[in-house]
Amino acid sequence: MSTLRFHAIKESLSFKPLQIQEKERRSDIFGKNVFNENTMRQYLTKDAFESVLNAIQYGKKIDRNMADQVASSMKDWALSKGVTHYTHWFQPLTGATAEKHDAFFETIGGGMAIEKFGGSQLVQQEPDASSFPSGGIRNTFEARGYTAWDPTSPAFVYGTTLCIPTIFVAYTGEALDYKTPLLRALNAVDNAATDVCKYFDKNVKKVTSSLGWEQEYFLIDKLLAASRPDIILTGRTLLGHSSAKGQQLDDHYFGAIPTRAFNFMRELETECMLLGIPVKTRHNEVAPNQFELAPIFEEANLAVDHNSLLMDIMGRVASRHNLKVLLHEKPFAGINGSGKHNNWSLSTDTGVNLLSPGKTPMSNLQFLTFFVNTIKAVHENESILRAAIASASNDHRLGANEAPPAIISVFIGEQLTKVLEELEGVTKGKLSPEEKTELKLNVIGKIPDVLLDNTDRNRTSPFAFTGNKFEFRAVGSMANCGNPMTVLNTIVAKQLKDFKVEVDALIEKKGLKKDEAVFNVLREYIKSCRNILFEGNGYGKAWEEEAKRRGLSNNKTTPEALKAKVSKEAISLFEEMNVMSKIETEARYEIEMEAYIMHIQIESRVIGDIARNHIVPTAVKYQNILIENVKGLKEIFDKNFTSVSKEQINLIEEISGHIEAINAKVTKMIDERRKANAISSVEDRALNYCNKVKPFFEDIRYHCDKLELLVDDEIWPLTKYRELLFTR
Ligand code: ADP
Ligand code: MG
Repeated sequence: MSTLRFHAIKESLSFKPLQIQEKERRSDIFGKNVFNENTMRQYLTKDAFESVLNAIQYGKKIDRNMADQVASSMKDWALSKGVTHYTHWFQPLTGATAEKHDAFFETIGGGMAIEKFGGSQLVQQEPDASSFPSGGIRNTFEARGYTAWDPTSPAFVYGTTLCIPTIFVAYTGEALDYKTPLLRALNAVDNAATDVCKYFDKNVKKVTSSLGWEQEYFLIDKLLAASRPDIILTGRTLLGHSSAKGQQLDDHYFGAIPTRAFNFMRELETECMLLGIPVKTRHNEVAPNQFELAPIFEEANLAVDHNSLLMDIMGRVASRHNLKVLLHEKPFAGINGSGKHNNWSLSTDTGVNLLSPGKTPMSNLQFLTFFVNTIKAVHENESILRAAIASASNDHRLGANEAPPAIISVFIGEQLTKVLEELEGVTKGKLSPEEKTELKLNVIGKIPDVLLDNTDRNRTSPFAFTGNKFEFRAVGSMANCGNPMTVLNTIVAKQLKDFKVEVDALIEKKGLKKDEAVFNVLREYIKSCRNILFEGNGYGKAWEEEAKRRGLSNNKTTPEALKAKVSKEAISLFEEMNVMSKIETEARYEIEMEAYIMHIQIESRVIGDIARNHIVPTAVKYQNILIENVKGLKEIFDKNFTSVSKEQINLIEEISGHIEAINAKVTKMIDERRKANAISSVEDRALNYCNKVKPFFEDIRYHCDKLELLVDDEIWPLTKYRELLFTR
């Protein structure tokens, strides 16, 4: 019974760390396996190169003839790297990446064969991927899904396969993946932001959204992980008493990285370099065996692809080091969970970060415009933004006394708060020359200095301004960043579009000067979105009450939070910005609700199985040992028997109590599951799983964890927290 646990411990202790050698400089191997601009210059004709570049920069279509040329060159490049297969690489709504490999190899008759790859294979494929979630889209239209090349994210070689990043859509055009709506949202924010930039600089032609993610994760021994059915099947521990030592001493955070983890990181970073993922930072996180990895930020679509690719590679590299990566938001109770901060900004093709103040009053007004519009966008759409990060696993962080809370608020720091307060006092309508000068010199002119010492960081805020970017901290560690990035860019696009309409109206109808109009609109925005600004402690009960007074949503669970995704406002927002049709939005809602139900259902089955088939039999076994002991004592001590066997008898009774509780609760949980399964509405089913099934987890766990403290360690079947967290 407990043999697997002890075998795993023995094996893991005898594992010798792999030696990793980095023979080449990182800058020399960076992007070596990517068909990037540099490689394209070498392999493509001038026409083909320009055609791809135009597609990347301005979304121009690549014609068939050019696609043939690109495909042929891509193949030559790939063959030179020992590649045999190609795949359209995409991100279906399962959250994982998908690929179906085809060989370049083709027969040409007469017993001969060649390597072939044409434009049509590059541009479009029809994988028979009918088992991916579609939220009913494909049933409704009886159409197949196809993948189509996304030239804005370069092809890359992984192992012996050429991977071509693609979108995945239904034959009728509905998106079935994360990338399609993201590309549409990036396009929307580009259009809206470029229009607004023109108030300040006529030369701006394009605005790009940037993303720098910070990936948190746990690394535990592979064999120890394999000894736990809950980790294997759900990615987290459903049971387990906390270790005597956890993170109380803060001795892991930023400490020396343990050798095995360090070697894993170096090998992972080498793979990342080859694939052009610009990883830069690595360190220990707060919880034992928890770490973080962060790259230099990139264009958002590429950054999302890189994060998805990274999550996949991490698992493969870890395996070689006898490690398992846990990306789950809450793998262990009682210690910190993992998140994925999404650092976000907008920048122009003239090289200006729109969330970074500049040198002139005009550029600072531009900064303020984007800064205030972002805050306003979050204010108007806080519940939609919350819905974008909802998942069964992220519920363990949001709203569960863990950073950050389920209430969306924006932190901007004391200094910028003062700036906004001053702007609220701006005169309505035309401004006097004196007021303009005062504003430009002493209010917005001071912003760069203000930001220099804007060092106070509020780690409890889900959406914080950190000097030259906003940091969306509530994203889950396991999430595909595509979803939150789609929503954030869409709401900002919509906001900027409205802003432009309002400013233009003041200029045209009220005869205001451009800067006067901007000041006037910003003033009203600041007044109207004060409610979303919060500088205090986001964990406290006080904030929950205050947020309620302010009318902010506080959706602690996924079924509640997701409702905002299909509100009238959300549907028309995504429609208006051409990001998702009503059908697409509703399909996604259904897919995410179903995913929630299935996650809770699987966890419920696993916890039931472990409790009944692992824990209870172990407890009975130990109880029998105690009973034998008591019988023996009775033989020896006869009349004095009760005093010497008192403790054992108490233990026997205590164990019985826990066994009884476990069995009763598992039975009730299964009953609730049965009832929930019979509900046809996905909403009610999800709510039942959330409110009727899930609460049993804690109850059952409580008794199992108590038994862990009573039963002989020698026969305990589940690898313990201290072993999982402190084996390095
Ligand atoms: P921390 O938030 O941990 O203090 P930093 O402020 O240095 O760390 O940056 C964290 C992340 O923010 C990095 O991944 C970095 O690439 C990213 N970042 C920096 N500037 C931008 C930007 N303009 N747009 C998007 N991400 C950015
Ligand atoms: Mg950060």
